[in-house]
Amino acid sequence: MAVSSSLPVIRERRTGPEQADLDKCVHCGLCLNACPTYRELGLEMDSPRGRIYQMNQVANGDAITPEYIRHLDLCLACRGCESACPSGVPYGRLIEAARAELKAREKPGWRARQTQRIIFDQLLPSRTGLQLAGAALYAYQASGLQRLLRASGLLTVFGKLGDLEALAPNAEVPFFYSRIGKTFLAMGERRYRVAFLAGCIANIAFARLNDATVHVLRRNGCEVVIPGAQTCCGALHLHTGLREKAKGLARRNVEACAGEFDAVITNAAGCGSTLKEYDELLEGDREYSEQALRFKAKVKDVTEFLAGIELNRSMGPVEVVATYQDSCHLAHGQKIRTAPRKLLKAIPGLIFREMPLADVCCGSAGIYNILQNEMAMQILQHKMANINGTKAALIVTANPGCILQLAAGARLFGTGQRVAHVVQVLDEAYRNYETNFGRA
Ligand code: SF4
Ligand code: SF4
Repeated sequence: MAVSSSLPVIRERRTGPEQADLDKCVHCGLCLNACPTYRELGLEMDSPRGRIYQMNQVANGDAITPEYIRHLDLCLACRGCESACPSGVPYGRLIEAARAELKAREKPGWRARQTQRIIFDQLLPSRTGLQLAGAALYAYQASGLQRLLRASGLLTVFGKLGDLEALAPNAEVPFFYSRIGKTFLAMGERRYRVAFLAGCIANIAFARLNDATVHVLRRNGCEVVIPGAQTCCGALHLHTGLREKAKGLARRNVEACAGEFDAVITNAAGCGSTLKEYDELLEGDREYSEQALRFKAKVKDVTEFLAGIELNRSMGPVEVVATYQDSCHLAHGQKIRTAPRKLLKAIPGLIFREMPLADVCCGSAGIYNILQNEMAMQILQHKMANINGTKAALIVTANPGCILQLAAGARLFGTGQRVAHVVQVLDEAYRNYETNFGRA
């Protein structure tokens, strides 16, 4: 089936927040303490209730002011408020629609248009573009230039750019691209056939995480297909208000995973949230709306999938004290909290210690830590204080973006803790078993 970006659409949601969604807020304030920006600033206008109030004002004719834009920009879209809200306010939908409205009215200058075109049109959806960027990053890191610059303190001269360097991912060669389009057989009896969506940036910066995911799935009786036609999920496009571009990517992924699969697996909570909302994104799309519903029914976070099947318990010990940071898009977006904890507690030798406020955002939030670096670092510093209190040597989470943010936190405000995804710890346990007893 041909993919077209100009498909006929029967019904299209208006760009701004729906009045019915705004009206669900009864102004009770029960969400305030779940909001990282309100916790940091103590300002009503930087709380969920305050932001909903401002969206309401705009929906009812008030002008869009720079203050309104600033309060919305400062929101992490972490959806912590959605979990705390007893009235079922769909805050994630509200902020996405409010940002799409701002984007539609924006008249960006030439430079902003070019930057946006390069990142969202050419880089994220393009394997070649990401591979080139990954190669440049790898050269910077492997040549020792990064180590030299960090040790010399020269990065402070670059101001904001220097701050951002601390958040750069490590390029992991070989990149994961060589596995795309391939099928990996189950180890032992085949119980499931799954499609794995490997992400976009993850293919260069999280190749080892993707390899670990494939290995853990295979050790649990999965034949793992990595569809060749997959592309970026569109989450970053949606967070930036580029809804139409996200729809094009959604159509490509729905087609790529149209085969006979028991599940479509992702190891990135942020991507998973978006993939599970493709039905909303493609609602009214004559050609893709039904396919999107079928696709959504199969999407599973890797922790959700593994916790829902009979887990292969042939694991060797991983002797470490570990704590778990909820990824917002897993805990608040997908309501998955127990699955990752259940998996960690199944690993022999691992001592699990819960941290306070584990489900408050770490400040990563897609590219928030790049765009709102100062607030992201403030939030991270408080997060690390809670983590340091557990004395855990390993911080586990379920989203690549959170791994980068927490690794920066461990380096800047922590005790040099190791940071890993849940499946990487499981992978370690399976490999420890294999080293001692061979495969089982
Ligand atoms: S999404 Fe997160 S940052 Fe934004 S208002 Fe809700 S809790 Fe606060
Ligand atoms: S979003 Fe929910 S919790 Fe927050 S003020 Fe409105 S109704 Fe209350």
